[in-house]
Amino acid sequence: MFSLPDLPYAYDALSPVISDDTLHFHHDKHHATYVKNANDILQQAGKGFKSLEEIVAESHRSGDKKLFNNTAQAWNHAFFWEAMSPETQDPSGDLAQAIEKAFGGIEKLKDTFVTEGAGHFGSGWVWLVSDAGGALKVISTHDAADTLTEQGMTPLLVCDVWEHAYYLDYQNDRKTFLTKWFEALPNWRFAAKQFDARARGGAYRYPEPSRVSA
Ligand code: MN
Repeated sequence: MFSLPDLPYAYDALSPVISDDTLHFHHDKHHATYVKNANDILQQAGKGFKSLEEIVAESHRSGDKKLFNNTAQAWNHAFFWEAMSPETQDPSGDLAQAIEKAFGGIEKLKDTFVTEGAGHFGSGWVWLVSDAGGALKVISTHDAADTLTEQGMTPLLVCDVWEHAYYLDYQNDRKTFLTKWFEALPNWRFAAKQFDARARGGAYRYPEPSRVSA
């Protein structure tokens, strides 16, 4: 059984960019449902207790869409919570240099990230990723799709662009949500750890499943 990780901050900590109400619905309802569905499918299938990362990759390979969608969404949301911080930060060190090299600075990265997310058709995620060599890119993925299925790609940050992520606070204005999000909430210390982990290992992993079975 996979647990629903707690938010790493209080529900009102990201306000006003993301309201207390949105975080309650998003974490306690949406994220919780993906985790519950994933556990239900795994139990019904009598599947073992592999890591969530392995299950996401395997279900993607085998084309088990229901399992993939729910496990990938469980993972993506947990990663999303970690990729935000109530304390506004700036990138520093090697990561700041890589941003300069890839985008020409943080303002241009912001433009690229907001444009990618605002232009993404339908539900999905916008990511800042690194390849194994440390080259950065902004990409978006549809629905539950994530970067765990991409060889050599390490996610540094992600923002959820499903409507449930912003509709209560911004209605249909995804671009304003993304702009405010990028200016205030990225957890650049977490992103720097991920960047470092691309070469040395130790990238974010979802909490291990418990071995309690029904
Ligand atoms: Mn979501």
